[in-house]
Amino acid sequence: MTYRSSRRSFLTAGVVLPLTGATLWQETADRQAASSASAPQFSYRVLGKTGLKVTTLGFGCMITSDAGVIERAADLGINYFDTARGYQGGNNERMVGAALKRKRASLVLSSKSGARDKQRALADLDTSLRELGTDHLDVWYLHGKNSPDEVSDELVEAQQIAKQQGKIRFAGVSTHDPKVIVPAMARKGVMDVVLVTYNFSMDPGVAAAIEQGNKARLGIVAMKVMAGGFRERPGRGDSGTREKLKRAGAMLAALKWVLKDRNVHTTIPSMTDMDQLDENLRAMAEPYGAAEEKLLARQLDFITPLYCRMCGECTGMCARGLPVADILRHLTYTEGYGQFALGREEFLKLGPAVAAVRCADCERCTVQCPFGVQVTARLRRAQELFA
Ligand code: SF4
Ligand code: SF4
Repeated sequence: MTYRSSRRSFLTAGVVLPLTGATLWQETADRQAASSASAPQFSYRVLGKTGLKVTTLGFGCMITSDAGVIERAADLGINYFDTARGYQGGNNERMVGAALKRKRASLVLSSKSGARDKQRALADLDTSLRELGTDHLDVWYLHGKNSPDEVSDELVEAQQIAKQQGKIRFAGVSTHDPKVIVPAMARKGVMDVVLVTYNFSMDPGVAAAIEQGNKARLGIVAMKVMAGGFRERPGRGDSGTREKLKRAGAMLAALKWVLKDRNVHTTIPSMTDMDQLDENLRAMAEPYGAAEEKLLARQLDFITPLYCRMCGECTGMCARGLPVADILRHLTYTEGYGQFALGREEFLKLGPAVAAVRCADCERCTVQCPFGVQVTARLRRAQELFA
């Protein structure tokens, strides 16, 4: 792996679009006409072989605590909502179900199970349906599979049984490793949808894998589109930089960057408040241009030492066996998403042996991140916060 994250490589690594900037936004023709000057405009794409017409901005409910934000998103016209059995200690589905109850019939609703065997997965599905107050899911994902072996025959069988029983319409898999999982699923032909980590910080191989998935008619849903959502804190860096990194700039630009890739059908950024919802809605109506390119180049410089893309390329490098990508993901929950409790909870699930390790005790770190993440410093920070 020779790719290095840098402003220069970012500027040259953008998705090679099949359409020109001018034609890209011809999608406008497919937009719902705004009923007033202030009403949001929506763009839609077809979710691969499912044939479902989804808004390009969907809603990732994982860290939302205010059901009103979800309800308003549905009232405004967003039609794709994503949750999982495990989110918020099993509580998220209940809230999502209550928020979407009135509109359920017109929405595309997805959830996930992280179970590793058929019986537990099917039991999870029944719990999800009960908590969500619905008799079926539109997409049911196998949660967090980063190697083809994890998409086992018995889990695929569970999805097929659920389809036959009418409990799910379509089968999916979610992954932090699109370069491995998307081509594997494109070949295997047992999935309808893949939910992938995808953002401006990633190497061009991720975009290529997603393109391959789209060609195989897989529905493509993008998560982690804000690249961790890191924002510089007041008092650090020069004020000009801070201004440009404010949510209204870099986060919106990050979302637009993903949407300009036509191989992606919808996105599920996390949204916790109304302002964030209003801002994200703009990504469906506004073009991606030079200003966004500039903002993201600057944002990439800022996040390069901080943001772990969860590519897994450092797996096995830690001399003391730390699961580096998992720990750094939990640190991103805390420092990027602003969710300390979630970050610590997930860290502690890694077990006492992981929690007992202190990077400060190592003379020399054996982990090399090809993307420039300052691994030792970040792990020390995680140990200080969580262990
Ligand atoms: S720290 Fe490891 S998993 Fe994270 S971006 Fe670097 S190589 Fe990939
Ligand atoms: S410094 Fe931390 S990450 Fe690096 S080898 Fe030691 S324990 Fe592993």
